[in-house]
Amino acid sequence: MMKKSFQIHIQGKVQGVGFRPFIAKNAQKRKLCGFVRNSMSGVEILLQGDEQEIENFLYSIKKDLHPHIQIDSLECVEVNAKEYHCFFIEKSNQESQSLVHIPTDYAMCERCLKEMLDCNNRRFKYPFISCTDCGSRWSLIQHLPYDRHRTTMRYFEMCQKCLEEYHSAESFRFHSQINSCPECGPTLFVRDSQNNILNTPNPFAFLAESLRQGKIIACKGVGGFTLICDAHSKKTIQCLRKRKRRPQKPFAVMFPNLESIREHTNCSVIQEELLQSTAAPIVLLKPKRHTSLAMMDISPKTPYLGAILPYSPLHHLLLREFGNPIIFTSANLSGEPIIACLEDLNKILDVYDLCVDDNRIIAHSIDDSLFTIVDEKPYPLRVGRGFAPLMISTPDQKKFTKPVMGLGAEQKGTIGLGFLDKMLVSPYIGDLKNVESMNLFLQTKDFFTSHYAEPDIFIADKHPSYRTHKMAKGAKNSLFVQHHHAHSLALMAEYGIQEIIGVVFDGSGFGDDGNIWGGEILLATPKKYKYYFSLQPFKLLGGERAIQEPARVLLSLLFMLYQEGVWDMDIPALSFFNETQKKALYQLYQKDLNSPITTSMGRLFDAVAMIFYPPFEVTYDGECGLMLEGDYVDIPFNPYPFEINKNKIYFLDMIVAMLRDRQQGIEAKISITRFFHTIVEMIVKCVEYIFENEERVIPVGLSGGVFCNQVLLKSTLQIFKQRKIPYIIHQKLPSNDGCISLGQLYFGLFK
Ligand SMILES: [Zn+2]
Ligand SMILES: [Zn+2]
Repeated sequence: MMKKSFQIHIQGKVQGVGFRPFIAKNAQKRKLCGFVRNSMSGVEILLQGDEQEIENFLYSIKKDLHPHIQIDSLECVEVNAKEYHCFFIEKSNQESQSLVHIPTDYAMCERCLKEMLDCNNRRFKYPFISCTDCGSRWSLIQHLPYDRHRTTMRYFEMCQKCLEEYHSAESFRFHSQINSCPECGPTLFVRDSQNNILNTPNPFAFLAESLRQGKIIACKGVGGFTLICDAHSKKTIQCLRKRKRRPQKPFAVMFPNLESIREHTNCSVIQEELLQSTAAPIVLLKPKRHTSLAMMDISPKTPYLGAILPYSPLHHLLLREFGNPIIFTSANLSGEPIIACLEDLNKILDVYDLCVDDNRIIAHSIDDSLFTIVDEKPYPLRVGRGFAPLMISTPDQKKFTKPVMGLGAEQKGTIGLGFLDKMLVSPYIGDLKNVESMNLFLQTKDFFTSHYAEPDIFIADKHPSYRTHKMAKGAKNSLFVQHHHAHSLALMAEYGIQEIIGVVFDGSGFGDDGNIWGGEILLATPKKYKYYFSLQPFKLLGGERAIQEPARVLLSLLFMLYQEGVWDMDIPALSFFNETQKKALYQLYQKDLNSPITTSMGRLFDAVAMIFYPPFEVTYDGECGLMLEGDYVDIPFNPYPFEINKNKIYFLDMIVAMLRDRQQGIEAKISITRFFHTIVEMIVKCVEYIFENEERVIPVGLSGGVFCNQVLLKSTLQIFKQRKIPYIIHQKLPSNDGCISLGQLYFGLFK
């Protein structure tokens, strides 16, 4: 029989997913010889043996693929090679341009869970158990390709037993790069509030008991520390809010298991699947009305509950002991990245009573991902652990002429690198105004640059005061993309298309006329955009202050309608200001002092909330929108009046109608629902006008932070379906500024 040799190159998500052991086992089973190794572009295989068996092999690796593995391309050529007598896993090849997907972190698998709970297993209650199917990846990777000596596991030398598993094709830890056991792996420490190590013979029982006593624990997870406490204890949660200085923003809850989630929430099959997926994100669910959880303290004023299942061995061990849901929120200062090491935890020493950490270094801190379900598909609100870094192929393998870097926006920073036919996007980083977030941003930038390509062009937002804008200004070659165009571009990039009507609603983005845009409808292509519509401009009294104090936004609209007559009106929001402030604000309005012009949809949501709710200071992004979502009711579609004239959407008629309804005692929920209907109707009217004007139907893309509002998004899609308007929504990145870096890359691709 003739022996033949083939060289196979595979690209895709093939490192850190157990692909090499999978290949080796398969080849050995078929008595094929040769080797497999990681390369900078993916995986290389040399296969020698009977041609029919080689064909069977190729067929079976495509058919029996593990869900973690994703093959983008497979090239197979016959070669002349020296003769091999067995099949083995060869050392990684570090030549050539890197193209490999970065492996993401996986939730613990069933097999490992079973072992960890088996008192006869040598990894009984071992909180760092993992295998080729599960465990940390990106959070431990210092360099590529993915091998133990390029991860932070290199500080732990495998013991004899672990090595045997590593070399045994029979073991499911065959070539598991992060393999370890209690003998040779990392160690867990329980510490007091001053970070002194406590002697705890049974740490999980001790921690569970501490949770019962109302203690707040900083707990090291996959991508950093989280703060946990009993989700039934009102008092403890209030204490956590006070200590963390986080008065309102919802906390996520980690449930011990799916049964517990079903007990407290209404959870669909799709939501359950997403919760149980290997990426294990936080999923927004509707809590049951009579849940015993302290909902008013967990998620005040909003209709959702962010739920998550245990994903690391430590979570499983802890929740099995505790048996009840826990508050699960990242340990950080507001807007900063999740804290990943004990030294940084010192910054929040006053927040926790106990700390659980270990001596395994987190190479890249990364937050949990946050999703909801829209159109029966996962809809991202924050893309982090389990999903990012994210590699997206360009349409039709179109190549970047030179590597480009997309520096993103500012508040929800991400960074992207475009090279060859790939667009690589980082996880959510944070608010780049913070030094810590900027450090993580720069660290990620270095990682991308040193492993993939040195960018030739830097692309940034047009906002002159964004740090990323200044960074690009300092580079040799730079390009600047208008914010709302970049949102539209990000959507086009996700779908690989080249024209959409971009309906981009957000808080603020620097407009081409120097004003703050945020309610824009554009006809966008990769190279340019045609401005079609925006909200009618209004003034932000006191600039940034108006974002914190939404009563100022309503006041500004009321000044437009009634000038000084507003002070006779009976609206609770007006009580927010004293007499001096009232006078001063009218001065600002009249004389255009410190009152930038905006067309922001986010601010319009704020103003509407102030018609119905007592005034307050906003403490997190989208707070007013979430409250309005909670008051949406199911009534027939019934928009308020508004007017579209030239390229402006005039909405003051709607405000007048809402004020009148309120005065006539019509229930706030009805008015709020009709407000959502009105926005949907505005979108539809504008889109239909564009169809007519362009004499064709063009897909509509919905982007911008306002489309994190599920009620608005779902009501819009419902009407789109009824009126047969084709649309696209985000599936890979969030609609907020986390998608801007991808949009910038797409701009660079067509430049
Ligand atoms: Zn496993
Ligand atoms: Zn070991």
